[in-house]
Amino acid sequence: MKILVPVKRVVDYNVKVRVKADGSGVETANVKMSMNPFDEIAVEEAVRCKEAGTATEIVVVSVGPAGCQETLRTALAMGADRAILVQTDLTTEPLAVAKLLKALADKEAPGLVILGKQAIDDDCNQTGQMLAALLGWGQGTFASKLVPGDGTVAVTREIDGGLETVELKLPAIVTADLRLNEPRYASLPNIMKAKKKPLETVTPDSLGVDVTPRLKTLKVAEPPKRQAGIKVPDVATLVDKLKSEARVI
Ligand code: AMP
Repeated sequence: MKILVPVKRVVDYNVKVRVKADGSGVETANVKMSMNPFDEIAVEEAVRCKEAGTATEIVVVSVGPAGCQETLRTALAMGADRAILVQTDLTTEPLAVAKLLKALADKEAPGLVILGKQAIDDDCNQTGQMLAALLGWGQGTFASKLVPGDGTVAVTREIDGGLETVELKLPAIVTADLRLNEPRYASLPNIMKAKKKPLETVTPDSLGVDVTPRLKTLKVAEPPKRQAGIKVPDVATLVDKLKSEARVI
């Protein structure tokens, strides 16, 4: 079984995000970029499937500018076999990404597509669901456990009040949640080996997809700054302030 894993390049989760002065978006110039953390989990799961003998090939895909090659090399160093960059400098919205992934899925015929449950930059949580709809495949979203079977995959999902396990007929779409696994760090020898693994670059046009953005960002604003705290002399004053000022008791 071939597994396709879409990986998005996003601002590193350790970076304190800054809004551009004109409010048009988030500053990405000279900012550390990394693989979306949920996509690292998706790559790790695919690599574990290959190690367990349930997957034969892992193809990673990224949609975005040339810099995404670095993200793809990281996935190759973690254990993916081959990478595809769909190169575009336009903002990539979930529907456009889902259409590109559908075109690639039609070509590559994977048994499983494992995506992250959401990209931490725009928090859309849409691409996997849209891809499942476009392909007409079953989907197991927010997976915390994945067990490949014979022509099926069992996906355990964290839902309100417990765990739900669904069985999907392959080919299928799975989106990875935080507790699915703990991704490995790429070792130096594997980083070196990854430089020689195949990385193909294609364009949205060559896949027959128009990625022109359909949404217009009106404004991006930082959350209001937290007020400084104050020290109170005694418990009585604290209780009084909680009652009269904060009104929480
Ligand atoms: P989103 O729907 O934007 O929250 O993204 C959900 C998942 O879709 C991500 O975790 C990735 O696996 C995949 N994805 C979204 N955008 C891209 C992209 N530009 N390139 C590759 N994969 C993407």
